[in-house]
This record gives sequence, C-alpha cells and structure tokens, in this order.
Amino acid sequence: MEHLWAPWRLKYVTGAGGISEGCIFCAGTDPSRDDLVLVRASVSYVILNLYPYNNGHLMVVPKRHVAALAGTTADEQAELMRLTRHAEIALTEAYAPQGINIGINLGRPAGAGVLDHLHVHLVPRWNGDTNFMTVVGNVRVLPEELSATAAKLRPIFERLDRDNV
Ligand SMILES: [Zn+2]
Repeated sequence: MEHLWAPWRLKYVTGAGGISEGCIFCAGTDPSRDDLVLVRASVSYVILNLYPYNNGHLMVVPKRHVAALAGTTADEQAELMRLTRHAEIALTEAYAPQGINIGINLGRPAGAGVLDHLHVHLVPRWNGDTNFMTVVGNVRVLPEELSATAAKLRPIFERLDRDNV
C-alpha cells in the first residue's frame, strides 16, 4: 500500500503556467491540460493522473491554490464533495471495481507530493492489485490509454451533472 498514495509521481504538468508558479494543480486549470481534464466545474475540476496507480485513477481539485480543507470555502467544500461523489459513481459504472480508495494526503509524512494544493484521489481497486504491485515494484503496466479512460468517463460525468444526480 506504500505506493498507493505516491503523488510525487505527478510531476507531469510542466511549463503550463497557472495561479501559483510551478504548482501542477494550478497548471491543471490551464486549457492545455484538456486532454487530462474530465470536468471543469465552477470552483473545482476533475483530472486524470498521468501516471495512474490503476486504470481510472483521478483527482478532484479546487481551482484555488489552497493547502487543506481548513482553508476551503463552503462552496468549494460542496462542489468537491459533489464531484467526488460523481467520480465514485462514474468509476463504478465504467470499471466495476471491487473497491475504491478515496483520500487526501496532507503533508509529506502523509504521502503528499504536492504539499500546498489540496486534491482528492480516487483509485479503483481490484482484488490482487497490490500483489501485482509487489511483484513488479515501481513499474506499472496499464492496459488502457488515458485518452480511452477520458473518453469512457467524460460522458458519465456530463450525464450526472445534466441530470443533477
Ligand atoms: Zn496550486
């Protein structure tokens, strides 16, 4: 389980600019990340992890550069939870996982790689995926392209929003 919360792998958005210089989650608000972004809501967004732990690994992120839940507004809290709920529903529908990890890492000892921009991870889980990980160490071979993941999940998020689920 050590590798599960390893968002230091998320050093993938570079030079995209943003609200706080060098912050990958501020950079995620840039239209150049549209290939990875599944949903842009009013104060937050949903983005795929470029180096997913499992197929469907995504993150729900406030647009504002805020470090912890303590600093969020009521609007942000409501939308983050709404999108997290939609993400749970979308992942369940698209991948039928046997479990889902939903979590926030605050601070380096807790596993956070991006220390000052809050983000909620959702990682679909299947029986045996940790055993596989133990065998292969840090190397993860994922059968699905991110573009395919995005194509699968985007319409579900759109439908959930449209139907006000
Ligand atoms: Zn930021």
